[in-house]
This record gives sequence, structure tokens and C-alpha cells, in this order.
Amino acid sequence: MKHKLFINLKMNKVILLSAYLISIIVMIFVYMTGGTTKVYAHLMYIPIAAVSSIYGKKNGIIHAFISGLLLGPFMPLNVSKNIFQEPLNWILRLIIFLTVAFIIGFFSDYNRKHREQITSLLTHDANTGLKNIEAIMHGNNSNSCAETIVLFTVNGFGETMNFFGYAFSNQITNKIAEQLEKILNKYSNVQLYHYSGMQFVLEIRDDSSEVNSDEIISAMEELNKSNLVVNGIPIYLEIQMGIAKTADKNISTFNGVRRALIAYSYARTNNLKSSIFEPSLEEHYRNILNIASGFSEALACHNIKAAYQEILSAETDEPCCIELLARWTKKDGSAIRPDVFIPVIERTELIHELTKYMISRAIDFLKLHSSDNWIVSINFSLKDFSTDNLNYLFQTIEASKVDPERIQIEVVERTIANVRDLFKYLIMLKNHKIKIALDDFGTGYSSYHYLSEIPIDTIKIDKSIICSIDINGTTKSLVKSIVDFCVENEIKTVAEGIETKEISDTCKEIGIDYLQGYYYHKPEIM
Ligand code: C2E
Ligand code: CA
Ligand code: CA
Repeated sequence: MKHKLFINLKMNKVILLSAYLISIIVMIFVYMTGGTTKVYAHLMYIPIAAVSSIYGKKNGIIHAFISGLLLGPFMPLNVSKNIFQEPLNWILRLIIFLTVAFIIGFFSDYNRKHREQITSLLTHDANTGLKNIEAIMHGNNSNSCAETIVLFTVNGFGETMNFFGYAFSNQITNKIAEQLEKILNKYSNVQLYHYSGMQFVLEIRDDSSEVNSDEIISAMEELNKSNLVVNGIPIYLEIQMGIAKTADKNISTFNGVRRALIAYSYARTNNLKSSIFEPSLEEHYRNILNIASGFSEALACHNIKAAYQEILSAETDEPCCIELLARWTKKDGSAIRPDVFIPVIERTELIHELTKYMISRAIDFLKLHSSDNWIVSINFSLKDFSTDNLNYLFQTIEASKVDPERIQIEVVERTIANVRDLFKYLIMLKNHKIKIALDDFGTGYSSYHYLSEIPIDTIKIDKSIICSIDINGTTKSLVKSIVDFCVENEIKTVAEGIETKEISDTCKEIGIDYLQGYYYHKPEIM
């Protein structure tokens, strides 16, 4: 950017000097062709028009005046006869030159001002009056020294706007901007920008003569968990920051903002107050993108497969159910773990491709084992609960003629709070005789209240609880109370993640119906 500005300044000088040179050349040419009687004196309009249109009224008039003098009292009317011009002749020409320069320069200045106004509108936030991201993108971002870029976010803009409305949210943003300006006023090495919503960018020049960026960041943290009074209403502020330190002067401010955004995303996902950019974070997000973009191909190339894990009856120690679990093996033979790729594709519509694949694998299994009564359990994600997806499931089951009672859908506990109309979807499943299991029970906001409201057949108690059931009395009595509740409400129980005989024995002693875990069976590719 700095380089570009330098080139522009240099170009400006060159154009101005060239214009003066052209004027002198015109003067010599007029003289050589015999004086001002000839038409060539009009050539002088070219440099005058060029200077006035590029440099405006002031420079244009100066140039026109000098050009007028160049063709003025010392320029003969007729060189060969040595006849000089009447004063009125060259003065009138000078006035015409000045008028031309004035008119062109006037419009040039007007246009420039107009352009500057538009640029100012584009590069400033109308609400706070602060410079915005456009200013960072297109401004003079010459980095004379290392910089620290901070993306400063006050959480909850969306919710505040939905609840209090746009106007009040803008007032809050304004007030925050004022507070920030007040804090930052005493530092001369900070430039504050408005990014979007309640997000701001701080560009701190890490010049050794200035205040250290860490000190400035600490000052900003004072705003965290404080109350801001807007229209007499105290608003609680919770702040998160993404920080990018660029020791390399060649890294543009805009690139710094991009890095600060990456750091902020990390802080937000991991519920941290702030996070500092590291290249590994970029790698992390690149991996997420690679997962999302490579999933469909992996599925088409059979690199994604279904594994099954047996679930045994506690009474007979015999398997009676399987859970289908996705497995992704890359071309190089390495594996991507389900707890890495499932949360990524769950964020996209790709999850339906996986669920459809699992449904088809479940049906394949049931057709192959039509003589026994095993149940196949399929994991459903939040997005899978829609009328379209459920209709797909019902139609596929009907077309395959398998018994729907041998299919179970696993719903994780947190889905219950997050899917509107979940109850309606569960009833749809029930009406089609499909079983429902509540997965990972004990990891969310477990409440007996909703258990009595929703039509579930089975509760799968999470492995994080089961793993200590044999050594922790409190856990044991907690699980016992879950089992008692389930017995009373005719809900079956599964203990997940059984890894030892001791855990298995305790589960049986408590009265859990089914057992699942590495102790019995490790997931196996189908
Ligand atoms: P989940 O539904 O709770 O599945 C059980 C997980 O516990 C599986 O992990 C299984 O391998 C693991 N597990 C089973 N027994 C033991 C044990 O004794 N000890 C320990 N430590 N772990 C045990 P996995 O296969 O890595 O899957 C992780 C999660 O990914 C699943 O948790 C499920 O939430 C999700 N997932 C897997 N496949 C699918 C799928 O096809 N669709 C959806 N929506 N989610 C899936
Ligand atoms: Ca499951
Ligand atoms: Ca589970």
C-alpha cells in the first residue's frame, strides 16, 4: 500500500512537470512556426486542460497564467517581420486561458470533493462515525512497524437486536464505541475501527516508543463483565477478543484482521475470554473445511463405511441390538475420528447424506438377518429432524419391507432443547412403529420432566457416568435412581461404554437392561 501511494505521488509530480514541459515546447513551436498569427497558439489549451482537470482550480490557474505569459508580451505576432503583439491581444488570450483553467478546475474540484464524500461514506460507519472495514481494506495500510490487531466483540448483538430492536441495539453500539474511544484516547498508537454489529477492530502499532499493546488490551478488558447504562437501562457486557500480532511489517492490516477473526472464532467456540492467533489455528479451520469439502467424495468412493457395535441383553449376555457408527478411512489409510468429522458435517446439510447412507446400511443388515430379532440403532443429528427426512425414512422402510419395529433412532439429549417441534417428529416416528432411544443421557440438562413428556423406548446412559459406576457410590445411586424411574415408566435402559467386568457387574446389579461397550464388542466395519 505504501509502495502504491509513493508511486502515485511520484506520478503526480511527473505529470505536472510534463505539463510545464509541454507548455514550453508549445511556446518554442509557436515561435518556430512564425509567431502567434498561426493557429498553433491554441495547442496551449492541452497542457492547461490537463493540469486543471488533474490538479484542480488552483494549480490550473497558476499553470494557465504561466502559459499565458509564455505566449505573452515576448512572443512576436510575426517572427520573420519582427512584429510584436498588441498588449490587448496577449492579455485577452491570458484571460481566456485563465477562464478555461478556472472552469475545468472548478468541475475537477467539485468531482474530487464528491468522490471524497462518497469515500468517506463508504469508509465510515454511519452509526458510530468510526472508520469501518472498508477503510482497512482500501485505506493507506502502510505498516511502518509491527502491529497488533485486536478484534473486540461484545457478545449478544443478535439477541439484543431481536429482543430490544434495531434502534436500541445501535444505541448500545454507539455507547460502546464512546467508551472504547474514551479508553483509547490516551494512546496515540491505536486506531479504532467499527467492524460489524458490536464488533470493533483495534490497530495497535507496536512501536517501542509507544505504549505496549498488552497494556492496551488489559485496559480494554476492564469493559468485560461491566454494566453499560443506555437510556437508563443497565446492559451487561461480555467481551471476547481475537488477537493477531504481526511482527512482519509485510503483513497487511487487513490480513491481521483476518487472523484476529480466526483467533476470535477459536475463543468463541472454546468459551475463552481471548485467544491469540497461531498458524495452527488456521490449520485447524482449514482441516474443518477439508472435512466438509471432502465428505461427499469420501462417501461416493466408499471411504466412509458403517461399523456396528453389539448391544447385549444384561439378562442373557447375548447380543440383541446393534448401533451403527460411521467410520472414515482416508485414501492414505489413516482415519478421521467420528467425533472430529461428525460435528463438522452436522453443521451442514451433508449430514443428510450420512444419515441416508446409514439408513440404507441398517436396512441391508435387517434383510440379511431377517430370521433373528435384532434391532438396529441409527444416530440422528439435530438437522435430521424434519418432515422431509422422516418421510424419506418411512418411505425407505416401506419400500424395503423390513419391520419398522426393528429400527431404533437415537436422539441425543441436547437435541430435545434445540429442535422446535421435536415432540411432533417423535410422535411421527412412534406412529410408524419406529423405536426411539435417548442417547448420551446425563450429559445435557437431564430432567425427568421431559422424559415423561416424550415418547421414548430406551435411555442410553452416557459412558462418562457409567465409567465410574463401580467405584463411586454417588454415581451408582444416581444411575439407580434413573433405572428406578425408567422401570416405573416402562423405559428400557442401556449402559454405554462398559470397559470392564466390574462395571458390567455393577450395571447388572442395579438392574440396567442392556449393555454396550468395548468389554463386550468393539465397533466392527460391516
Ligand atoms: P455415540 O452415539 O455415543 O456412540 C458411542 C460411541 O462410544 C462410539 O464412538 C463408540 O465407538 C464409543 N464406545 C463404545 N464403547 C465404548 C467403550 O467401552 N469405551 C469408550 N471409551 N468408548 C466406547 P464413535 O464411534 O467414535 O462415535 C462418536 C460419536 O459420533 C457417536 O457417539 C455419535 O454421537 C457420533 N456418530 C457416530 N456415527 C454417527 C452417525 O452415523 N450419525 C450421527 N449423527 N452421529 C454419529
Ligand atoms: Ca449413539
Ligand atoms: Ca451415546
